Amino acid sequence: MGKLTGFMDYERRNNVYVPVEERIKNYGELYHRLDEEERRKQAARCMNCGVPFCQSAMTLNGMVTGCPLHNLIPEWNDLLYRGDMKGALARLIKTSSFPEFTGRVCPALCEKACILGSIDQPTSTHDNELYIIEEAFQRGLMRPRVPGTRSGKKVAVVGSGPSGLAAADLLNQRGHQVTVYERDNRIGGLLTYGIPNQKLPKEVVDRRRRLMEEEGVDFVTSCNVGEDMAAEEILHQYDAVILCCGAKKARGLTAVGMDGARGIHYAVDYLTSATRHVLGDDLGENFIDAGDKHVVIVGGGDTGNDCVGTSIRQGCRSVTQLEMMPEPPAERAADNPWPEWPKVKKTDYGQMEAIEVFGHDPRIYETTVKEVIKDPSGRIKAIKTVQVAFRDRHPVEIEGTLRELPCDLLLIAAGFLGAEEYVSQAFDLTLDGRNRVETKEDCCQVRRRKKSDSDKIFAAGDMRRGQSLVVWAIAEGREAANEVDGYLLGFGRSVRK
Ligand SMILES: Cc1cc2nc3c(=O)[nH]c(=O)nc-3n(C[C@H](O)[C@H](O)[C@H](O)COP(=O)(O)OP(=O)(O)OC[C@H]3O[C@@H](n4cnc5c(N)ncnc54)[C@H](O)[C@@H]3O)c2cc1C
Repeated sequence: MGKLTGFMDYERRNNVYVPVEERIKNYGELYHRLDEEERRKQAARCMNCGVPFCQSAMTLNGMVTGCPLHNLIPEWNDLLYRGDMKGALARLIKTSSFPEFTGRVCPALCEKACILGSIDQPTSTHDNELYIIEEAFQRGLMRPRVPGTRSGKKVAVVGSGPSGLAAADLLNQRGHQVTVYERDNRIGGLLTYGIPNQKLPKEVVDRRRRLMEEEGVDFVTSCNVGEDMAAEEILHQYDAVILCCGAKKARGLTAVGMDGARGIHYAVDYLTSATRHVLGDDLGENFIDAGDKHVVIVGGGDTGNDCVGTSIRQGCRSVTQLEMMPEPPAERAADNPWPEWPKVKKTDYGQMEAIEVFGHDPRIYETTVKEVIKDPSGRIKAIKTVQVAFRDRHPVEIEGTLRELPCDLLLIAAGFLGAEEYVSQAFDLTLDGRNRVETKEDCCQVRRRKKSDSDKIFAAGDMRRGQSLVVWAIAEGREAANEVDGYLLGFGRSVRK
């Protein structure tokens, strides 16, 4: 433990937000990072607990608390406090494949479980992680680690989101020849086309791609496996295949008048278009622009928040976020004690921006869309909303609460319904009741519909787990790599997690 009294001597300080009026003018990062001196103080607040819940990933009351990667948090906080950057980096990347992603976008399950958090503000582990990895890149410590020997085995990873990248990275380090297939024009999955640039600049994903390429991973983009390339072909060419195709099947909206209405889009399509525009792709009339529009977002979660922040950057006239569920409490309820995941209201960057720009919180709770109103050309121009109450866990409309809102762009951020069917059909996979690819008990090897002699197919990430978090996708990718490595070499799990 670096400083015995660090947690008493220093107050928590977060990375500092760029002021709203400045940051909404562009798609640059949201924060300024603290300098080394302050960062080391923040690391000194870590108490190096005997039982570090931060790295435990325990399930409490149905939700996980603590890091799914089991990051060695007290160790690298201590090394950071001591100024041993090389040591801190070595301990960090031992368990964490891409700290530059999680250090930016992870909701920090570790901090919610931090023991200091039971009496004070938790250690700023999320920002410490980002500091270590960004300093490492800047100081030239992140050099390509090219495997000394190759196994002669070939692995295909389908999908280049965080799960696919994590699996590819680890298997390459074990000496297998890995090719990642991606149907989009850029790699990254939702890291690239989902999470907006202001939260995760795309040069960060490109930087990792370059490093992985130098280490020997091949990337094939704009190749849709199951359509452009047959499943049989990929199974024939490779010794193992890991499917990391995500869970992008979006939940729709049923409201009167939606049929054929223009100006209604799924959130991920909107965010993808926004990112491609920022990156300079010419989308022509397919660009979805919130500029000068009244924007309504259905869904009060994180995806909805990203739509709020992006609409504001595009210059929307107003932005409203509708949420069916009741407003969460500001503080933990009595039945939701530390170290459980806190079920409290979070006001994220986009909502903060809306409050500052438009003078009020964009969220309206316990409300949904009942009807879409179109102009004569078929474009959406307004919506009718209604309040709901939950009876027996089902939303029921409250009479007399109908309200009309101007709306030229309706974005649906109402969650996801699991894996897209064409990949599971192409690979003859079985899906469970929530459209997740079924794998054999306690492992990532898939179950196939018909009895087949091919046991070389594995699955990981949202495709197996359902829509989740980047940190879980990375943990899944590492787990699948572990199993594939053992499978290829003819023994059990061999890659250290
Ligand atoms: C808008 C949005 C914001 C989010 N923000 C956060 C956040 O801030 N923090 C956080 O922790 N989590 C966040 N998440 C969740 C997180 O992004 C996902 O849980 C994570 O990306 C899942 O990783 P994955 O690798 O399983 O799948 P994905 O990231 O979905 O990647 C799957 C990839 O597979 C490709 N693919 C699919 N089928 C094929 C095929 N047949 N052939 C070739 N390629 C194929 C897809 O094009 C895609 O690139 C967010 C999600 C969304 C939608």
